[in-house]
Amino acid sequence: MVATAPPAGTGLAVSGLAVNYGAVPALRGVSLRVPAGSVVAVLGANGAGKSTLLRAISGTLRFHRGAIGGGKVSWSGTRLSGLAAPAVVARGVTQVPEGRRVFARMTVEENLRAGGLGGGRRSAAAREEVLALFPVLAERAHQRAGLLSGGEQQMLAIGRALMARPSMLLLDEPTLGLAPLMAARIAETVKEINARGTSVLLIEQNVAMALSLASYAYVLEVGEVALEGPTAELAAGDEVRRRYLGVGDPAAERPLDGSAGRRTLGRWRA
Ligand code: ATP
Repeated sequence: MVATAPPAGTGLAVSGLAVNYGAVPALRGVSLRVPAGSVVAVLGANGAGKSTLLRAISGTLRFHRGAIGGGKVSWSGTRLSGLAAPAVVARGVTQVPEGRRVFARMTVEENLRAGGLGGGRRSAAAREEVLALFPVLAERAHQRAGLLSGGEQQMLAIGRALMARPSMLLLDEPTLGLAPLMAARIAETVKEINARGTSVLLIEQNVAMALSLASYAYVLEVGEVALEGPTAELAAGDEVRRRYLGVGDPAAERPLDGSAGRRTLGRWRA
């Protein structure tokens, strides 16, 4: 399999990114791209650095006592690295944090308002779009967010992020802990959000789902990109199938020839 990088152009570009928590390195020289209009997935085991990557992009690392140690992040040519979180949102890049964090004591309506940028006509239009995407949020508008089901809270967390009308959405494990039907519903929503023109960088434990939603995927291993490629190729290849999808023939282990230099199967062996 030959890993072909996504075409250059507008979109998100992460190059040579290094992140440390104090003296502990969490990302080392990570480079990836999300072409405008696409869905790209980041896979990897617990602790591989997936959330750290999203935090570095969204400007929220400092809340976790992390810092960028090198490299850069840019969105459509504008440098994001070094900006505070609100400035990143203002440039069109919004993160839905892991754990479907909502303001539990606030109503659904208040949660949505908290995601809007400055109110006004723009927020009213965003609110209409969010409620069209998630009609259940309109039904529950005056309920406290803490009383919603897990799936509804995830919808609210995504809806709140959409209130800023982002060009790019960063999603951290949106289906984690959800029942299969609800997870499928969230996946459909991600497709719809993308179809409306928003680029998506998706971290997802459900690898089968991630591969079906994204056109290209990167696999992080201990803070580095260990493998990347078009999802159709990754899904058909032995490595991702065996390591993440639980299928495949162990005897089929062999190097991924021509995989852009940095990826050989040797990297996969513990
Ligand atoms: P998970 O799927 O478990 O969330 P992940 O791939 O998102 O894992 P990260 O949470 O980004 O991985 O963690 C990457 C590395 O950085 C891990 O070694 C983790 O222990 C470390 N780490 C993450 N957050 C902090 C923090 N606030 N302080 C110190 N180390 C951290």
